[in-house]
Amino acid sequence: MLTRPAQTAEVKDRPFNNLLRRLNNADFALIEPHLTTFHAHPGDLLYNPGSAVETVYFPCGPGLVSYLVPNEDGRDVETILVGREGAVGGIVSQGYLPAYTRICVKFGGPFVRLPIGKLEAAKSESRSLRNIFARYADCMLAQIFQSTACNAIHSIEQRTAKWIVSAMERTDGSDAVPLTHEQLATLLGVGRSYTSRVIQTFKAEGIVQTRRGAILVRDLDALQTRACLCNESVKHHFEEVLRGVYPTEEAGT
Ligand SMILES: [Zn+2]
Repeated sequence: MLTRPAQTAEVKDRPFNNLLRRLNNADFALIEPHLTTFHAHPGDLLYNPGSAVETVYFPCGPGLVSYLVPNEDGRDVETILVGREGAVGGIVSQGYLPAYTRICVKFGGPFVRLPIGKLEAAKSESRSLRNIFARYADCMLAQIFQSTACNAIHSIEQRTAKWIVSAMERTDGSDAVPLTHEQLATLLGVGRSYTSRVIQTFKAEGIVQTRRGAILVRDLDALQTRACLCNESVKHHFEEVLRGVYPTEEAGT
């Protein structure tokens, strides 16, 4: 098990991505000259199926991306969300292979990009850097396994509550989650009427309110009791494998 590193002032000067902040100073110095920051907007497309993967993207702060699997009926279904606990692009493959999924920005914010070749060069120089990325790949696979099980057995209500809580963990203490009914329906792979019905129930119980383009969480405890435990299982694995990297409700992590 890795121990949580002290959040020194130096680490806090880095981009607000927990994986980048998890690296020791020597490892961060290997990639720092190659990092570039840009601002991403909701709907921005990072990869399409078949695109050559040449860049790793690190969502920072409230930035969040989703992996979407296109289906034969024209619908995209979301599989997992990745926020500042991780990165997308060449995490498992080491890059230069075609992307399997579409990767799309869900919540805008600052993002950092790094050419895959620079990351691979740093990995070949540093065992500890390679170890952090291998551990992250393991955690990302755990998210995918859990998501598969979740979609198979948990109810639409449980999954709706889970996604709202999971998105809220990245909104930096705000209780407004910028998700529409439409987006929730895509996350769940169900028709919009199903999610609308669940949201109406949550509203009637005082758990959430809605406003244009966002869901306001009024009773987080109640929402958490409605959610399945899938998020918790994934967080537990992150804590075992990459302590301190999964965002929590505590500010600044
Ligand atoms: Zn679940």
